[in-house]
Amino acid sequence: MHELSLAQSLIDQLLELAREHQAERINRVLVTLGPFSGIVRDSFEFGFNVLKESHDVTRKAVLELETPDPVYVCLDCEKVAVIPFATPNDQMETRSGYPYPKKCPWCCLTRLSPKGGTELILNQVEME
Ligand SMILES: [Zn+2]
Repeated sequence: MHELSLAQSLIDQLLELAREHQAERINRVLVTLGPFSGIVRDSFEFGFNVLKESHDVTRKAVLELETPDPVYVCLDCEKVAVIPFATPNDQMETRSGYPYPKKCPWCCLTRLSPKGGTELILNQVEME
């Protein structure tokens, strides 16, 4: 399972950080999931919450996930548009290769290309 191994590498990263800072406990973790990362948010969160139990340092850690709105470049007018997913299904459709969104808000043509948004970034860690 893709999400589980990503959650595992996040835990590994946190353990490493705690070691570097001689922290005993991690309280809060803020992660950005790109809208085109292909990561299923719920599975990732679930995996993290299971795996964190294996370590004293991460047991109390609260994971906060944020997903920025997706950004597209129009291949016809070359403008950049931020188009939020209208429904939870939109994100799924994008992942499975269906053309979402349907059209450019500037020129109304339909050749839109996702711009960035494939990242998983560890933004902030609170530890003590
Ligand atoms: Zn356009």
